[in-house]
Amino acid sequence: PLRYTAFMHILKFGGTSVGSPQAIEQVVEIVRAKGTEPCVVVVSAFSGVTDALIEAAVDSEQGGDRQELPAAGSLSPIPYPLPSLKTRHEECARYFLTGERLDAALAEIGAAFAELESLVKSVAILKALPPRTLDMIMSFGERLSAFIIAQIFRAKGLNAEYLDSRDVIKTDTSFGAAKVLREQTYSKIKDTCKKNVIYVAGGFIGSTENGETTTLGRGGSDLSAAVYAAAFGRGTDVLEIWTDVNGVLSADPKIVHGAFTIKEMPYIEAMEMSHFGAKVLHPPTIQPVLEKNIPIRILNTFDPAGASTLIHSGASESDTLVRGISSISDVSIIRVQGTGLSGATGFASRLFGALARRGVSLILITQASSEYSICFAVKPEDAENAVQAIKEDFRIELKEGSLEEPEAENGLSIIAVVGSRMKHTAGIAGRVFHALGRSGVNVIAIAQGSSEINISAVVPKTERSKAMNAIHEAFFLSGVRSVNLFLVGLGLIGGTLLEQITAQSTLLADKYKIRVRLAGLANSRKMIFDENGIDLINAKSILEIKGEPYQLKTYISKMKSYNLPNIAFCDCTASEDVALMYKEILHAHIPVVTPNKKANSGALAYYNEITGFSRDKGIPYLYEVTVCAGLPVISSLRDLYLSGDRVLKIEAVLSGTLSFIFNSFTGGTAFSALVRDAKAKGYTEPDPRDDLNAMDAARKALILARECGMPLEFSQVKIEPIVPEACFKAASVEAFFAELEKSDAGYERRRAAAAQEGKALRYIATVEAGKASLSLRAEPPDSPFRSLRDADNIVVITSERYNKLPMVIKGPGAGAQVTAGGVFADIVRIARTLV
Ligand code: ADP
Ligand code: ASP
Ligand code: MG
Repeated sequence: PLRYTAFMHILKFGGTSVGSPQAIEQVVEIVRAKGTEPCVVVVSAFSGVTDALIEAAVDSEQGGDRQELPAAGSLSPIPYPLPSLKTRHEECARYFLTGERLDAALAEIGAAFAELESLVKSVAILKALPPRTLDMIMSFGERLSAFIIAQIFRAKGLNAEYLDSRDVIKTDTSFGAAKVLREQTYSKIKDTCKKNVIYVAGGFIGSTENGETTTLGRGGSDLSAAVYAAAFGRGTDVLEIWTDVNGVLSADPKIVHGAFTIKEMPYIEAMEMSHFGAKVLHPPTIQPVLEKNIPIRILNTFDPAGASTLIHSGASESDTLVRGISSISDVSIIRVQGTGLSGATGFASRLFGALARRGVSLILITQASSEYSICFAVKPEDAENAVQAIKEDFRIELKEGSLEEPEAENGLSIIAVVGSRMKHTAGIAGRVFHALGRSGVNVIAIAQGSSEINISAVVPKTERSKAMNAIHEAFFLSGVRSVNLFLVGLGLIGGTLLEQITAQSTLLADKYKIRVRLAGLANSRKMIFDENGIDLINAKSILEIKGEPYQLKTYISKMKSYNLPNIAFCDCTASEDVALMYKEILHAHIPVVTPNKKANSGALAYYNEITGFSRDKGIPYLYEVTVCAGLPVISSLRDLYLSGDRVLKIEAVLSGTLSFIFNSFTGGTAFSALVRDAKAKGYTEPDPRDDLNAMDAARKALILARECGMPLEFSQVKIEPIVPEACFKAASVEAFFAELEKSDAGYERRRAAAAQEGKALRYIATVEAGKASLSLRAEPPDSPFRSLRDADNIVVITSERYNKLPMVIKGPGAGAQVTAGGVFADIVRIARTLV
């Protein structure tokens, strides 16, 4: 192979890479490591400088009232924020330079700012900021940084020379976004850079054939570097772009936490990602190097040995279905629709012609297949212009009503999913939109690029971050599905749930690729949030130490404001207030998991509203645990219904306490003594009347009835009293027991009469024919209710299919472990319905 005689390293360092003395130290070492071969080092302005220069110029144009005190020896005040900019450059020079070098640098900085001041003042006087003047003002950022860095390199012993890019990069006269005149520029570069030195050149700037200063558009230093590289063609082996992240990541790491470096990618994918907002590479950068087939490597100045990205033509296909996701935060869309569009050939070309003549560039276009509507996205600053263009060029159509009045819709973002594997893989769009829909992101428009290597969606700007994260999760992270859990209630069930999640987290992650991230936690006093996940093991103490005072409304609004994808809200309280928030939460597209019976056994209208909304919108509302704890009662009923079966009757023992009492009522022990025993064993509430009133069982019966489609209110559930009225009037628990003892003989008579026929007493809920009731029944030996042990619950379902032999679901229906376990299962269920 050929040995190139004129070999050149081309390195570009962005604003943050030269933004501080510490960063510049890194740059010096990176360049030093290139050894003795010649280099062109292209630098951006120090970070923030271009913005500040624009601010100074615009401020002056608008009246320039923000001024600072006159500098010593000067009479007029200096436009904001030039003095602090000057200081920043001087401080950088002082940090590295001494003696003559420092004097020379300070003189250069002084001269530059003197010129800048007079330029900015002239803007203030003329109250006008023509693009050519702004370009001149902006050019100082790169001119100063390149000059100062060249001096620093020399002070550090590198053989460096300052190169004014305006002498070699020739452009047309489109100030603000000038086009590089390639051939002319290439030969100037080759003629100029002939020595074996390190040329330090400012990016972003150039000049016209008349020598007027131009800039290449914001972010244009990347393009400058690409032009230097292309000038040397095969004389350079790679264009190195040094920035503040580890190359091109699967998404902007500032938005998506789990984003990772893309090791290599073809030019076309890089082009597509940068076109759709991946700022790490300025979009036009690719063209010059692509033509010369020069690879680009993107590296991190602050982690030189870390991961980086190589963009080249030989990149292999990605392992994942898509390569990356990028986004443009601010766009407007304009919809053009009307009967005039259908069948009218040439409409689109007229439309796009009208826009092109006004210099409006289109970011994305979609056309409905009905040909009745065309929708396109533009930069917000172009929106008004675009609307005017349409209004003018389609005056006639608008007047005769075949076209509707065009209007710009603002406050939108575009998300683009990029990857060449898309071309031959079906279902990618489906996955994107499932992820978005699942997270409640409203998609306003969709487009697939003609290259078929991107799918883009227009979404409200407020949903951008959530959308990016949801899609990222759907395609990357080796299939791990995470749920961002917001938990309220840390009593017995909530606390046990937390323990179970902690204990299972490794298994869930490794084996089932499910990650439960605790994003919010509250008990009745305190609450805490962390979108990166609260440490599970120490969650309780973190809540105690760092929590803020708990307030339900604030908790809910904070949960919503994080706008995280894949959220679940879990209510482990018994509070009615929390239950009444489900509606608002579901409307925010956040699934709800709850063991709290209050919502489902409260007002029928509310029950219908939330369950109906959940069904219609597909936002999970899961409450398996409200009936018989972890036993699969609700889900079984639902499966029967969905598979076309019809429930005819449900009979059930729904109270563990009552189950225990009657299962033990076999003669020999008085009824009141059994209740005492149950209380001693901890099977009852502190006041056993809270079990004996059968209210809890009745609420569960009501939930079952509603689950079968019966429109019942709680007051319509018929409850046969278990103990006499007088028991409830007793002033204390002891007084209650004394009262209950009076009935012992009556209970015994009833038991003995049943036993005579081989039967035993059971307190059973019945849901049938639109009614729900609970009563004490004498059950024969072969009854399923006779098989109950201890505090078991049982649900017996008779349906059209389960007719001769009913479906029986039996087991412990209470207890912290099984209840929390059921809640946990519902949370996992939510994770599994995620993409
Ligand atoms: P420089 O000043 O070095 O030119 P920029 O700020 O222009 O740097 O570009 C780097 C930034 O681009 C990163 O800090 C990152 O926030 C953003 N960015 C957006 N999308 C991506 C992506 N897909 N990969 C890496 N960085 C990205
Ligand atoms: N300094 C310019 C800007 O901020 C160019 C660049 O950094 O690429 O846009
Ligand atoms: Mg940049």
